[in-house]
Amino acid sequence: MDFFHNLEFTYPIYGNVFVTVYVLVMAFAFGSIFASFITCAAWRVVRHEDWVKGHSHCDTCGHELSTADLFPIISYVALKGKCRYCGSKVPPRDLIFEILLGLLFAGTLALHGSVDAAVVAALALEMLLLGLSLADWDSGVIPDGFLVAILVVWIMTVGFRPDAQRFAMEGVIASACVGLLMAIGTAVAGKITKAKSGYGPAKLAMCLVLFLGFRGSVMAVCIGIVLGIVFALVCKSKKRKMSLAPAISLAFIAAFLFKDLLVLLGVQLPF
Ligand SMILES: [Zn+2]
Repeated sequence: MDFFHNLEFTYPIYGNVFVTVYVLVMAFAFGSIFASFITCAAWRVVRHEDWVKGHSHCDTCGHELSTADLFPIISYVALKGKCRYCGSKVPPRDLIFEILLGLLFAGTLALHGSVDAAVVAALALEMLLLGLSLADWDSGVIPDGFLVAILVVWIMTVGFRPDAQRFAMEGVIASACVGLLMAIGTAVAGKITKAKSGYGPAKLAMCLVLFLGFRGSVMAVCIGIVLGIVFALVCKSKKRKMSLAPAISLAFIAAFLFKDLLVLLGVQLPF
């Protein structure tokens, strides 16, 4: 048993100012680098391009970008948001997501307070959720590849949890319940609105609650229903394809961070 106990890696980030600042700055840097990678990957998946091969290029003049143009945030600021070759304006969307994911990574670590399997899984998921939300927003489809990647993250980290067996069991049961709930919801919504709706959101929710346990799942479902209605109304008013992945992703991240916030504040949940 000792062997398995030692596998559980926990590295507290508070207690030493240098370590705290270092870990948070690194988290921000990694967040922006991963955002830069995943926004590009999502863009290519939507356009059915090979998402690992091939150089990035300017969307206006098609000039291949050099390594110096690819630093997240820094390149954008240095070039004042313009293409180095043709001078056309580069939309700030990627820059915004690089800053947001950097802040989210740093915030996740700050709230969690230590580097362990749970937080590594959370960071990996935040990156994947950004990618699949962008892909869904642009195309109305949640690519299955992202869902497979989420399952891989779960399989690779679940055994490192201190309460691995209970955690895995809870996750699978929560996943089955949420899946059933969402499948019924999707079928009913499809009957009422007579619009064709896929089961992508249901599959995504099933993958995500694996990471939350019972309490977190209940929290995520409650937040998800509210955000889902907001996003559905926004899509309807803008007359665009229904895209629920951003709502589900935000609900999951909120539930995960809120759980950590409660632990940090020492609040006990009544259930
Ligand atoms: Zn250009």
